Amino acid sequence: MKNTKTKREGRGNGCPLYKKCGGCQLQNMSYEEQLSFKQVKCIKALGKFCHVEEIIGMESPVHYRNKVQAAFKSVGGRIISGVYQASSHRVVEVSECMLEDSLADEIIVFIKKLLPSFRLSAYNEDTGRGFLRHVLVRRGFSSGQVMVVLVTGTQLFPKKKEFLSALLKAFPSITTVVQNINGSKTSMVLGKKEFVLFGDGFIEDTLCSCRFRISPRSFYQINPVQTEVLYRTAIEFAGLRNGDRVLDAYCGTGTIGIVAAKSAEIDVVGVELNEDAVSDAVFNARLNKSENTAFFCDDAGRFMVEAAKAGERFNVVFMDPPRAGSSPDFLRSIVKTAPERVVYVSCSVETLERDLLFLCKNGYRVKKIQPVDMFPHTSHVECVVQLCRK
Ligand code: SAH
Repeated sequence: MKNTKTKREGRGNGCPLYKKCGGCQLQNMSYEEQLSFKQVKCIKALGKFCHVEEIIGMESPVHYRNKVQAAFKSVGGRIISGVYQASSHRVVEVSECMLEDSLADEIIVFIKKLLPSFRLSAYNEDTGRGFLRHVLVRRGFSSGQVMVVLVTGTQLFPKKKEFLSALLKAFPSITTVVQNINGSKTSMVLGKKEFVLFGDGFIEDTLCSCRFRISPRSFYQINPVQTEVLYRTAIEFAGLRNGDRVLDAYCGTGTIGIVAAKSAEIDVVGVELNEDAVSDAVFNARLNKSENTAFFCDDAGRFMVEAAKAGERFNVVFMDPPRAGSSPDFLRSIVKTAPERVVYVSCSVETLERDLLFLCKNGYRVKKIQPVDMFPHTSHVECVVQLCRK
């Protein structure tokens, strides 16, 4: 395994919540064993396409999560905060976690203790009553900026000013606080309505020497150290040349396309379903002086079908879909528009295998597969795949 000489965290790490929480499926293995487990998983699913490179692990695989989300609940008159037990809505109380950013954990525990002194309650999912539903904390790894999102069942926020000043006094490093209203019966954490209570309403961070604005509802990779490894691999696999027309599909805040635009004189078109992420992408392109970029808010499949009809051509396509993988529409349009290279960034080997089978039956060949460990201690595996036209 790569990085074997570096620090490795031991088996189990003695987390008392290991069994109850279920978030760290591999915590009973040493980090070395986890990497072997993931390597074998990749080879089993993807080895038929081509050689699978050695997984790139983390030097220090702890406290890597820059985004921490806690659910709040009242249990026997006491407010608890933590994570939902795997496939349930039972909240497991968590005060500190070896995966999460420690400052984020401290902020969440502080808020839990602060609520009763302001007579604020936790939201009750069954009755739809009560106040605080979730707290989301995001911390910029290199900027140090901290965003706190208070997800509340109602807009009414008694003693808002006093609550805010107590929070900001205890944590002067918080740069923005947002109230997000979510009163619906849903398992989604964030609602549609938001109010900025303090600061700008977003954080900025730097990845691969580019700056990015991230809004509360935009996707942002949760492991910043490994994200740089992931993006550098993806851009290397793209083999970009001056004059290339590049599609960044499922682009989030435009990160991959904007970083790629620094490596060659290329035109970048990004497509993404989340409106806030698209606004961030447009802003981020300007922030990084990436001039030849355009971002569209659309379903990637629908966008590509239209692009194919209009006779659009891309030399290179980056695609980084969510766990469910890409859609038949998108994949068929790839085949139709025939880009020379496709770089598939995937967080699920199962859907990756399915989508690669389709592409390989329809004119593409897998040339390289590089797994990157984005989520130590969990069973999730991230891979970057280079495909070329046969
Ligand atoms: N490449 C980005 C985001 C990857 S996560 C990054 O590295 O940060 C996957 C993204 O796909 C999310 O931003 C999500 O909002 C978006 N998404 C999900 N379904 C989509 C669809 N059908 N069409 C376009 N984008 C979609």
